[in-house]
Amino acid sequence: MGAPTTPATTGTPSRPTRGVPPANRALTRPRRRLLAAAAALVALAAVGAGSLLDLRTPAPKPADAPAGEFSAGRAYEDVQVIAARTHVAGSPANDQVRAHIEQQLRGLGLETEVQDTVAPEAGQLSGAAGGATMARVRNVVARLPGTASTGRIFLVAHYDSVQTGPGGNDDAAGTSAILEVARALTTGPRPRNDIVFVLTDAEEACLCGASAFAASHPLAADGGVVLNLEARGSTGPVIMFETSKNNAKLVDVFGRAAPHPVGTSFAVEIYRALPNDTDFTAFLDQKFVGLNSAYIDGGAIYHTPLDTPAAMDRGSLQQHGDNALGVAREFGAVDLTDLRSGHDATYFPVPGGLVRYPGWLTVPLALLAVAAVVALGWLTRRQGRASTGRLAAGFGLALVPIVAAPVAAQLLWLAITTIRPGYAELLDPYRPVWYRLAVLALAAAILFTWYALTRRRIGPAALAVGGLAWLALLGVLLTVAVPGGAYLTTLPALAGALGGLVALRTRQTGPWPVVAVTAAAAVGVLILLPTVVLLFPALGMGMGGVAALVAVLLGLTALPVVDLLHPQAGGQRGLLALRARRLGVLPAGAAAVAAVVLAGVGLAVDRFDAAHPAPTHLMYAMDAGTGQARWLSHESDPQPWTDGYVDGMADVGDDFPGLGDGELRAGPAQAANLPAPKLDVLGDATAGGERTLRLRLTPQRAARLATLHVDTSTATVLRAEVAGRSVPVEPREGKWGFGLVFHAPPAEGIEVTLTVRPTAAQVALRAMDASDGLEALPGFQARPPAVGVVGSHSSEMLAVARTYPI
Ligand SMILES: [Zn+2]
Repeated sequence: MGAPTTPATTGTPSRPTRGVPPANRALTRPRRRLLAAAAALVALAAVGAGSLLDLRTPAPKPADAPAGEFSAGRAYEDVQVIAARTHVAGSPANDQVRAHIEQQLRGLGLETEVQDTVAPEAGQLSGAAGGATMARVRNVVARLPGTASTGRIFLVAHYDSVQTGPGGNDDAAGTSAILEVARALTTGPRPRNDIVFVLTDAEEACLCGASAFAASHPLAADGGVVLNLEARGSTGPVIMFETSKNNAKLVDVFGRAAPHPVGTSFAVEIYRALPNDTDFTAFLDQKFVGLNSAYIDGGAIYHTPLDTPAAMDRGSLQQHGDNALGVAREFGAVDLTDLRSGHDATYFPVPGGLVRYPGWLTVPLALLAVAAVVALGWLTRRQGRASTGRLAAGFGLALVPIVAAPVAAQLLWLAITTIRPGYAELLDPYRPVWYRLAVLALAAAILFTWYALTRRRIGPAALAVGGLAWLALLGVLLTVAVPGGAYLTTLPALAGALGGLVALRTRQTGPWPVVAVTAAAAVGVLILLPTVVLLFPALGMGMGGVAALVAVLLGLTALPVVDLLHPQAGGQRGLLALRARRLGVLPAGAAAVAAVVLAGVGLAVDRFDAAHPAPTHLMYAMDAGTGQARWLSHESDPQPWTDGYVDGMADVGDDFPGLGDGELRAGPAQAANLPAPKLDVLGDATAGGERTLRLRLTPQRAARLATLHVDTSTATVLRAEVAGRSVPVEPREGKWGFGLVFHAPPAEGIEVTLTVRPTAAQVALRAMDASDGLEALPGFQARPPAVGVVGSHSSEMLAVARTYPI
């Protein structure tokens, strides 16, 4: 029946071929084989458990911990003050937070000051859609002078929150951790280098606080080492996810000085693909080097009213502080004059520490992995375990699960979001663990099914070699495209090939072939299991396919172990073989059932309720000139609550250029009795065909931001100055071809000087301001308990605009 197959690394070929090593007869006996499978799986499970335990957060230390240590208990007292309520940049609540921070730092005897200035946004952000963006910022800056400083270390976190929530984690975690680190550093011996504590303002608006500090604060003039502390969720390990370029020396300090170092050179590449930004961006283009850390699991509460102190996992806070204190002490002691190295390091977490090696090893390792897999293929063929044709077929067929698993994971999530549309607006479900397990079970089901179907025809050896060949090949591709991620497939491929070679060269009567392939698979588990676990929260369930892909790659490195779950190839005949083949289908069936059950449990457990509301997005925009008002929503497929406000799509770009949006869901709203921002002409002079308008834009209510746009069919903007600072004149799409967005406008208004070349009798200017909170608006009905607010920078925004012809 069928073609006789040959085992990968263990067991007996059915027909002895010349050159085949002595038979491992033991493994042809089902009981022995099952025992070997059990032993190998227990060993791999132990390695996996060890690497997962290593990702756990430390126990939070109580408030009475020794003064020189970081205590999450003490830091949490600051969290409660900082995140007592929403404190967006420019608000009175934010003034109180700043006063608390100042008081704490002064209380430690540190030279403390507030940098009060106007600054442009850092980098290119999505918020720039409204035009040139800036803010009035007030950074709290304190300095601990070093004994013989060779440079400065900057501990950076932002103290402002989003408009939709109190920022219990984002970024009360970073801010309180820095205050507690400052406390610890001011007890005991002073560090050699200067340490500067920088609590920035208006990060959520435009990274403007960090931008102001990096560009214009005297302490920043000579650059230094930046350690930025963030949170994009409520729990999970703190991941050092971003570095400056040529990071080898920095990563080395992190690896030896952080008590719980979790970080991978792959994360930098992942992060660049995400639409997030932090204060760290503001330092990247300047004369700084540094590391950026955050915890990111529990992303459902990110930027929402649920991001409260109570939501914080204090183990994550402890890890944040332990690492920041350890790394700050180490940077505080070393010579900071030469921290740039010629290359980036490859690094990843393993139990007990951080593996790191120089980036220049990436290419030789990738080539070595390819050579080892080729050698394994050659030996496999030479020993008669697979023909050239089967090796080619194994290689081709191994692509099937690599493609099918991510596609299936995305389809599964599509099905789940069809059943529960509210998930579309969430970064991750509130209780994502069931769905994550469902994706892993699905990936396993696909791998096992594929293996059961192809194993008899192609043979275990050819499939194992084919799987490793893809890992080695991906390693080469990653080396070119994403060098920091090449280790993910290069090292497991190399280990798998070496394990296979050892297994083929050892005596087939003993346990060594099984030991060799299990040890090789363990390398795959050590490297790829933490990757899977960290990828889920990093990308959210909406990109669960990436985790499924990595899970399948992990499975491919363990194929020789998976094979032990199947009957010895060619070992039985007739009825026995049939029964054995049926047994071989068991893992696939079990995984498929598990995937369905886990997805079902997820849907049953993770229902929306008052504590876990379905997020909705709504804002209100009114033209004070015409009295026309509209409800607007970013939801592409509005949920029932939002549906009560919006119906069709509308282009709001012409009426509300300050929103920076084009098409949105819109519906009619009652006009509210709200004033538009005032636009006063302070000066108006024309010379040489150029008209210079000196204007003052003054919100008439407590506004989070104010915008000003020019209809470029009435005038071409040549130069612009805001609060005495020149602003780049970059043309925008559409009618309002020039625009600026000013966050945290002062009560006395913003002075804007525009130099234009008029093309009409009057220049048309559109002024808008925006506050937050829709409760007081006519026609607004409070959300029912199970309906919540989307974490976004425009949720609950209330905009009022008016055109001024001047
Ligand atoms: Zn944030």
